[in-house]
Amino acid sequence: MTRHDDERRRAELVTALGAVRARIADVCAAVGRDPRELTLVAVTKTFPAVDVAALAAIGVTDIGENKDQEARAKIKELAAPQYAPPAPIRWHLVGRVQTNKANSVVSYAHCVHSLDRPKLVHALADAVGRGRPAPLEVFLQVSMDGDPDRGGVPIDRLAELADLVAARPELVLRGVMTVLPLGVEPDEGYARLAELSQRLRADHPQASAISAGMSGDLEAAVRNGSTHVRVGTALLGRREQVLG
Ligand SMILES: *Cc1c(COP(=O)(O)O)cnc(C)c1O
Repeated sequence: MTRHDDERRRAELVTALGAVRARIADVCAAVGRDPRELTLVAVTKTFPAVDVAALAAIGVTDIGENKDQEARAKIKELAAPQYAPPAPIRWHLVGRVQTNKANSVVSYAHCVHSLDRPKLVHALADAVGRGRPAPLEVFLQVSMDGDPDRGGVPIDRLAELADLVAARPELVLRGVMTVLPLGVEPDEGYARLAELSQRLRADHPQASAISAGMSGDLEAAVRNGSTHVRVGTALLGRREQVLG
């Protein structure tokens, strides 16, 4: 990478960030929400650590990754003196977490968006107990169609999973998350998630956050109460096809 390439990439990210922030501002204005209620999580999977550093330099310090190994590699790179992010980065794990990665994940993650099964509740909570002073924030990933392949707890087991999390002081239950199945109309899917969120809050009033919305459908998510949008493509560009 030449210096010239670096500058061009930085300019690209500034433009893309402006466009995403404008989309968020427009939909917030349309539905009477304050954009400050929203956390923009930049999903940097497949993109290099230098992009994370560039995003942090322009004020995006909530960074999402979907794989523990990739997150760790970037964190290691970002420790190099030439990066030195101006503000600490908060790492969000948004993809499936294997229980044998729990120790690793709790060593750096601010938040896990993809908690979807009892075994993982205990693995993460135990790892926090062993390895860090601060609790780990978690979202419960809900499967809107019950398809186990994409991850997510079936709707009829959400309440039970929430109770398990609430019983573990090592974890902070933030709310619900989903990745909509293909073919589900976004406003319908996110309205359904908002209902589930409301039901969850009856038992767990503090669990008021909603992680919903990606590059293609963030407006629908914000209309339906999302508090955390997870945006990759619209900020960083298209990802190379990755296998697996
Ligand atoms: C990749 C990813 C995103 C971002 O998707 P884009 O369509 O690129 O914005 C959001 N959430 C999860 C769970 C992801 O894996």
